[in-house]
Amino acid sequence: VTLKSSSVQPWVSLRKVIIHKNAVCVFLCWCRNTNLSLLDSSGAMVSIDPTMPHNTERYMKPPPHKEELFQNVLTQVAEQFSRAFKINELKTEVTNRLAMLEKRVELEGMKVVEIEKCRNDIKKLREEMASRNNSCFYFSLSNFLEDNKKLTPRRDVPSYPKYMLSQHTIDALKKPAFDVWLWEANEMLSCLEHMYHDLGLVKDFNINPITLKRWLLCIHDNYKNNPFHNFRHCFCVTQMMYSMICLCSLQEKFTQVDVLILMTAAVCHDLDHPGFNNTYQINARTELAVRYNDISPLENHHCAVAFQIFSQPDCNIFSNFDPEAFKQIRQGTITLILATDMARHGEILDSFKQKVDSFDYTDEEHVTCLKMVLIKCCDISNEVRPMEVAEPWVDCLLEEYFMQSDREKAEGLPVAPFMDREKVTKPTAQIGFIKFVLIPMFETVMKLFPQIEEAMVQPLRESRDRYEELKQIDDAMNEKKKSENLTIGGKKK
Ligand SMILES: [Zn+2]
Repeated sequence: VTLKSSSVQPWVSLRKVIIHKNAVCVFLCWCRNTNLSLLDSSGAMVSIDPTMPHNTERYMKPPPHKEELFQNVLTQVAEQFSRAFKINELKTEVTNRLAMLEKRVELEGMKVVEIEKCRNDIKKLREEMASRNNSCFYFSLSNFLEDNKKLTPRRDVPSYPKYMLSQHTIDALKKPAFDVWLWEANEMLSCLEHMYHDLGLVKDFNINPITLKRWLLCIHDNYKNNPFHNFRHCFCVTQMMYSMICLCSLQEKFTQVDVLILMTAAVCHDLDHPGFNNTYQINARTELAVRYNDISPLENHHCAVAFQIFSQPDCNIFSNFDPEAFKQIRQGTITLILATDMARHGEILDSFKQKVDSFDYTDEEHVTCLKMVLIKCCDISNEVRPMEVAEPWVDCLLEEYFMQSDREKAEGLPVAPFMDREKVTKPTAQIGFIKFVLIPMFETVMKLFPQIEEAMVQPLRESRDRYEELKQIDDAMNEKKKSENLTIGGKKK
């Protein structure tokens, strides 16, 4: 398509048309490969370069608001499309489901009826995909907008009303028994902010207090609203880390850099968690699994999002650090976040067990290993909390698990029994985890810090006993039901 400057609008607009060719083609329903060239009134080609200097008056520059209008319309349309269709998520989901269904059809031995059903599903999905294919342009643009909106720091800081922490709250915040359910997001943000000040991190590292607020807001915005892996979970893990730092007097043993790494890794450790675990990511061959080659896809993603946030000067609490110090903080934070992959639990705990009896705080390897175990403890520490605080988290976790297993069933993926709503109950979910994961890990840490026995290990033992009692009641009820059914069955015969 050739555009002549004399035939259409002032040529400044034509330049825009060509620079924004993709957008224009979509609007005018032209093929996106359309070649556009711009000719001046004498018919000579005008070169188009987005970096060209601005037009001068003599080229009949249109009033600036028109250009702005064009830009705004583009942005708004893209935003509306993005909201209306949730296109990125849908696209990934549809593609995944399609692949899965196709795989199922290929499997030998499937019943004819099932194959027919799959075929129909595939047809439907293909049609859905095709109807959206024309919106490719919006896929990328909406993605860009969404990402940008989330990662871009809010300019209106401090926008969360400053919550004045009472002395009672300040004291309670240092203890594992802190009730994490009482607080709104802005109050949790104030608490996190308080921890950084209270530990002396803001003062010692010359952190800009406004940057700290902005960073925390940005962190909050980048946690998804999952049943379990949400901002409140981030708050819990960080508050437990703060409690352990206080309870175990870790500031006497660790450098402030280590304390900063422990706290920051806790804050960032589940950023942008999608609510489906690594097993799902790998089996469903999601974008994350492909990007990270099946190696801790989620933890790698949390880490990458964390440092994308730090890469923005407005949110970079480390901006006053020299490059060497930043490197150290970055490496330390990455190591800790990657250590939260439970697939590595055995490996990390074994390594710690080998060091704990002759633990050496001057040995960097020992200290790193301890920090890894500490963040692991905090990450799965809900059962350390009082029963009324801990128990709702089990429901949240099961809700997230059931969402995953339902989806796995729908997609024909393997389902882990501990996530299956047909197989799992609250006591069965908790007993094994407390007995074989939590207590052994906390008892090993107790060798270094005997003071955690009363505040952390004892509540775990009580929780284990309580769930064992509940399981006995469940079992007795099931036995009763079974024998009733047998009796009824017998009578029928
Ligand atoms: Zn977590």
